[in-house]
Amino acid sequence: MTGHETKAQIEARLFPDGLPPEGRWPTERTGMVNVYFCEEGRHWIKVRLSDSGTTPFLLGCRQCDQVMRSFAYTRPPDSLGVMGRQMRESDPTHEFYRPDTTEGLDQLEREHVRDGGLLLREIPAGGSESDGQGS
Ligand SMILES: [Zn+2]
Repeated sequence: MTGHETKAQIEARLFPDGLPPEGRWPTERTGMVNVYFCEEGRHWIKVRLSDSGTTPFLLGCRQCDQVMRSFAYTRPPDSLGVMGRQMRESDPTHEFYRPDTTEGLDQLEREHVRDGGLLLREIPAGGSESDGQGS
C-alpha cells in the first residue's frame, strides 16, 4: 500500500521499542505454528517450529524477492479475507528445524545454527511427525 518498505523500516514498525533480545520471540515454543506474509506479492507460508531455537522475523519471499514478515504467532487478521482463512485453516508447509550436523552448510548457515538459529525447509508432502504404526 505504501510501496516499498525496507527491512529496517518494517522492523521499526513492528518493534518500535527495538527487536526482542537474541532474536527470539518471547512466547516461542516447539510445536507452535507461524505464518509469514509477503504483503507486496500476497504470498505466504505456514511454518511449524519443530525444534527449539530462534527463528527470524523476516524471510525473503521465494516467489517474488520481496520481504515476508512474521505474524509473530498471532492469528492472521480477518481483514485478509479468504487468504486469512486459508492461513488459519491450512496445515504448515514448512518447518524450522535444527540440523543434526552443520556439515554441508555454508558459513552463514553454520554461524546461524551455532548461535541457536533454526533452518527452514519444506515439509515433505504427506509427511507426518511420526511414522509409528500404532497397532
Ligand atoms: Zn512474494
